[in-house]
Amino acid sequence: MSETFLSIQGVRKAFGATTVVKDFILDVARGEFVSFLGPSGCGKTTMLRMVAGFEEPSAGSIMIGGRDVTNLKPNQRNIGMVFQAYALFPNLTVAQNIAFGLKVAGVSRAESDERVREMLAIIKLEGFEGRYPYQLSGGQQQRVALARALAPRPKLLLLDEPLSALDAKVRVSLREEIRLIQKKLDITTIFVTHDQEEALSMSDRIVVMYDGRAEQVGTPFDIYNRPATRFVANFVGTLNVLDGTVKDPARAVVHVDGREITLRNGALNGTRAGDALSLALRPEAIVLGRQEGRDSSLVGEIADVSFLGSVIRVKVGVGKSAVSLDTFNNPASPPPVIGEKTEISFSSGDLLVLH
Ligand code: ATP
Repeated sequence: MSETFLSIQGVRKAFGATTVVKDFILDVARGEFVSFLGPSGCGKTTMLRMVAGFEEPSAGSIMIGGRDVTNLKPNQRNIGMVFQAYALFPNLTVAQNIAFGLKVAGVSRAESDERVREMLAIIKLEGFEGRYPYQLSGGQQQRVALARALAPRPKLLLLDEPLSALDAKVRVSLREEIRLIQKKLDITTIFVTHDQEEALSMSDRIVVMYDGRAEQVGTPFDIYNRPATRFVANFVGTLNVLDGTVKDPARAVVHVDGREITLRNGALNGTRAGDALSLALRPEAIVLGRQEGRDSSLVGEIADVSFLGSVIRVKVGVGKSAVSLDTFNNPASPPPVIGEKTEISFSSGDLLVLH
């Protein structure tokens, strides 16, 4: 792994008697894009604000670029920040907004004009320099906020739910744009979001947070495919949970809705015959009907069908569980019908045991 740029070392934050960030440890490499992902109230923003210097940790330390910044003010940390609400100055033009931090830093007029031009090109808003924020769409305002944060050439970019006030289409295009700009400038970035799709699509790594703790740190691929805890498995992506019973722990055999399934070796370590357990399966790991190469199947009944365009999401009742899966839309064959009996197939290797 390349050089660590941001190091969060055992940081804790308490407000009165409530601890909202607990023993947070994280090293972020130079140029890396890391998301803090978690439900409302899990401590993401508080952790970010401590990196920015708006909150002081109750314990632990924060290093940026090898320098201990734990007790430094925000303006001594060389960071740029973008918030959820458009925090542009309403009485300043786009160019004046972008130049704001440069003026504060004492950058010369000529240099400032040059940087504003450079930033306008990066955010693709050339020609908008004379407009006021109220003359911009929400997406454009956030791009200006990003340009304002980047103009002083900070070494660390902190983004606090910058897309959540935008409508869906703009959100998706701005996601890609932020990611491109971040890679182009090679700026180390922390992105706070409660939107798993945002985190999965943009990040080099994701920190999934729950109740003040980092539950899991990993690449989007790992977080999605190998969730370390039940919380992560549930929070990231759609998850089907099947109830099962341990049959033979040594041979990794379980019973699900009357059928015997053999799991990966070792999956049942620490369980005993007769124990109840929950097995999780992603929708894309399941197909309708029998399919060669899939070693397990269950019998169920179509409970719901949602036509989403290119895919059809189908819910199948299996015992007391409802299992969701996606089939590709095929104009030549009609979609499944609610009430039909069906089999579903999957590979036992795709089942996750939730502890
Ligand atoms: P959201 O997505 O809703 O912003 P979050 O994960 O960013 O949530 P935080 O804003 O970090 O969560 O808040 C974590 C907890 O700390 C919450 O329970 C919140 O009420 C509490 N909290 C945050 N700031 C303060 C404060 N200044 N004083 C007291 N409690 C606070």
